[in-house]
Amino acid sequence: MRRFFKNVPDKDWLSYEWQIRNRIRTLDELKAFIKLTPEEEEGIRRTRGLYPMAITPYYLSLIDPDDPNDPVRLQAIPRVVEVDEKVQAKGEPDALREEGQIPGLTHRYPDRVLMVVTTFCAVYCRHCMRKRIFSQGERSLTKAEIDRIIDYIKQHEEVRDVLISGGDPLSMSLEKIEYILKRLREIKHVEIIRFGTRLPVLAPQRFFDNRLLDILERYSPIWINTHFNHPKEITDLSAEAVDRLLRIGIPVNNQAVLLKGVNDDPDTMLELSRKLLRIKVKPQYLFHCDPIKGAVHFRTTVDKGLEIINYMRGRISGMGIPTYAVDLPGGKGKVPLLPEYIVSRMGNTFLFRSFSGEIVEYTIDEVA
Ligand SMILES: *Cc1c(COP(=O)(O)O)cnc(C)c1O
Repeated sequence: MRRFFKNVPDKDWLSYEWQIRNRIRTLDELKAFIKLTPEEEEGIRRTRGLYPMAITPYYLSLIDPDDPNDPVRLQAIPRVVEVDEKVQAKGEPDALREEGQIPGLTHRYPDRVLMVVTTFCAVYCRHCMRKRIFSQGERSLTKAEIDRIIDYIKQHEEVRDVLISGGDPLSMSLEKIEYILKRLREIKHVEIIRFGTRLPVLAPQRFFDNRLLDILERYSPIWINTHFNHPKEITDLSAEAVDRLLRIGIPVNNQAVLLKGVNDDPDTMLELSRKLLRIKVKPQYLFHCDPIKGAVHFRTTVDKGLEIINYMRGRISGMGIPTYAVDLPGGKGKVPLLPEYIVSRMGNTFLFRSFSGEIVEYTIDEVA
């Protein structure tokens, strides 16, 4: 652990501000740590301005420099394939139609809204579903823009659940985080507030700041959705970040994305789920990779996703099996996918396939 940064004192290494100040942003900076492949070198040059690079020293330290296919490396270091004609020709910048009338707001399901409050992230993940916002520069919504979203939510009493995402919403100043929470909590019909944040994975030091934890605790109930994709991302520091959140009553759920070459393998996903349960994170979703412009090279088949889910059943508690889902094009919402467990059906008599592959007949009748 702490590869490349052995001489950095603990007080810096454990500081979120230090991690952000020392993000690796250029080819020359990165070359000082890792021998890059020609594909990566050209990738960093050709994605500049379009899909920029930023990697925290912490996340970089998880990379095995001798493995060109290291799963953290594939998520963090640009490759020329992102701007390859074939990849660019497929997919759309905003495949899920998130952009609407009010900047930063998507209202798709009646009961919940999505707020995208900043374009800033500690690390720019190469597979990001909001890759379109990378080139907008690092900026958060202004108070006026936030107020406009708050007004909308106020006028829509059916909204019970507000999902705050980005960019990384918890990268914003404490003042702005508290402002959003305070304004949302003034709205009686808003029951749940959720943050979508990858900071437990990319810069877990963020959660070593008690001022942030105090704010999050004060505006309960708050839930956190995070984004571990590979077992090697579960470290002592990320486990400690999660533990600090759990101790102040914030449940942490995981939303992984199925990525070719990174985690499209049954044993890898099984190990990820086992490690997540050990740190008390519930694997909530496994998303099929969306057709996002500049990221379609990470897509694999739905059969692969189903194979992984099928493999898990019988090998780990149901708590550890995420809902595998695709997001429909045109902003039509998420659809859960399950391997086929019903082989056939006649009325209320079913032929089921068990976890071990046995075919079992079972008549399920109502008792009047
Ligand atoms: C995914 C998503 C949500 C949240 O869906 P859950 O299944 O409740 O996590 C809300 N709004 C939008 C636009 C989304 O894409």
